[in-house]
Amino acid sequence: MKKKIIGIDLGTTNACVAVLERTETVVIHNHEGGRTTPSMVSWNESGEVVVGAPSKRQMVTNPQRSIFGVKRLIGKRFDSPDIQNLAKTLPYSLVPSSRGDAWVQINDDKMSPEEVSSHILKKLKQIAEDYLGETIEEAIITVPAYFDELQRKATKDAGAIAGLEVRAILNEPTAAALAYGSHHGQDQRLAVFDLGGGTFDVSIVVIESGVFQVLATHGDTELGGDDFDRVLIELLCKEFEAEHQIQLQDDPVALQRLKEAAERAKIELSAAMSTDINLPFLAASQAGPVHLQRELSRTELEELCDPLIQSLAAPCEIALKAAGMTSFEIDQVLLVGGMSRMPAVQSRVVEIFGRQPSKGVNPDEIVALGAAVQSGIIGGELQEVVLLDVTPHSLGIRVAGDRMSVLLTANTSIPARASKTFSTTEDNQRFVTLEVYQGEDEDPANNRYLGRFTLGDLTPKPKGKTRVEVHFTMDVDGLLEVTATEKDGGKEATVTIDPAGGLTQSEIEALRH
Ligand code: AMP
Repeated sequence: MKKKIIGIDLGTTNACVAVLERTETVVIHNHEGGRTTPSMVSWNESGEVVVGAPSKRQMVTNPQRSIFGVKRLIGKRFDSPDIQNLAKTLPYSLVPSSRGDAWVQINDDKMSPEEVSSHILKKLKQIAEDYLGETIEEAIITVPAYFDELQRKATKDAGAIAGLEVRAILNEPTAAALAYGSHHGQDQRLAVFDLGGGTFDVSIVVIESGVFQVLATHGDTELGGDDFDRVLIELLCKEFEAEHQIQLQDDPVALQRLKEAAERAKIELSAAMSTDINLPFLAASQAGPVHLQRELSRTELEELCDPLIQSLAAPCEIALKAAGMTSFEIDQVLLVGGMSRMPAVQSRVVEIFGRQPSKGVNPDEIVALGAAVQSGIIGGELQEVVLLDVTPHSLGIRVAGDRMSVLLTANTSIPARASKTFSTTEDNQRFVTLEVYQGEDEDPANNRYLGRFTLGDLTPKPKGKTRVEVHFTMDVDGLLEVTATEKDGGKEATVTIDPAGGLTQSEIEALRH
């Protein structure tokens, strides 16, 4: 019997698992009957791991050992500005790993986001195994299109720790287009607008005779539902401090309750015009317990979130321009991600694209369903579908004068290969070191540093005489491979990679057991 490959949407807030059964994709219910599973992991008093809905239930009583939103940490450096900002609002602690990655602290243990994520993936694997009655070893995992190479590699490593061979890392908007296009088969041009809990992506996709070609993608990995919650939390903290002279930011339990209440109010205001925020016994003063009670209207929320809503336009315009299209040429706009349910977000989409978005899509499930379609492409069940994606960021190396020399530009169709030739600058030079960056700025310091490659075993010659051709290959998952040859002798140069972060192969192996 052919082994099944499951499709996983590993969301910031919720995760979803789907599978292809004959030619139909289905979402698999979790053990609590839900079609999505909260992306939350807790450690209880006795050190046991609790994942999903039971973890969400104990978050208020156990905030320091309950990890949510781990997707915002994965593949990130501890000292990056976004992690430093995020750390201020989290009830759990972040610490730097020995390589400078952002890790979480649980009791006395430091833990990588890869390991935390692997618990969510293990749970989804188990859900699928219980439903299908067979062991699952392979998966397709989706990531925001705008994830860089380190975030993609870290996600793949999380899969490996969970005991899953990750057959593909698929971009979330591309997955949504695949799921939509496989049911609405006609040739068309789609804009996928994906606003989730932690990230925002836009992709422009053309479907023609079964070929799904992504023309361009753009986004922001630091804009999502959590930011909408945060502006509301900040307002509530400010008002509370003004009224009671108590700083709620210093109390993890109060902060956790505020976060839940803020998110609940935001979600309720997508359907209602006004809601109540009611948090009894939120803090204690010398006079006794202090409560938070406030009415919040949809208009107030929209005004508060207006800067975030305004910032949704630029990535859409950049993606359209990179695809060489105007909004008039788009046939359909797909809304993906839970945050796209907010009416003010939908109005902004209408303004940006000049049309009503598609209504027939479930934004919580479409990405996992698309990953299941991709499993059919890889497994050979869906032979008539072809997928062509692009790299979201330019890839280059640092050259003299602190400039970025670009080898692959953003929105290049992947897999892609590019080469560049380097000459030695000293007599008898035996190796050359290259620093690789991803991003659009001319100054590498403003881009993401991916790692350092050392090309060794060069033939000793006078300076300038040894020339090395370096080849960058970006695979369909957006991961980079580097090879090098000495130009004149045709000899392979050795390539030693020193990545900017992440886990080593032996660390991954150790965590698997
Ligand atoms: P996702 O990562 O796609 O699961 O998106 C989750 C985000 O969507 C979270 O920030 C939720 O608070 C938000 N969300 C879910 N449902 C709604 C809703 N009806 N209105 C506004 N935001 C929502």
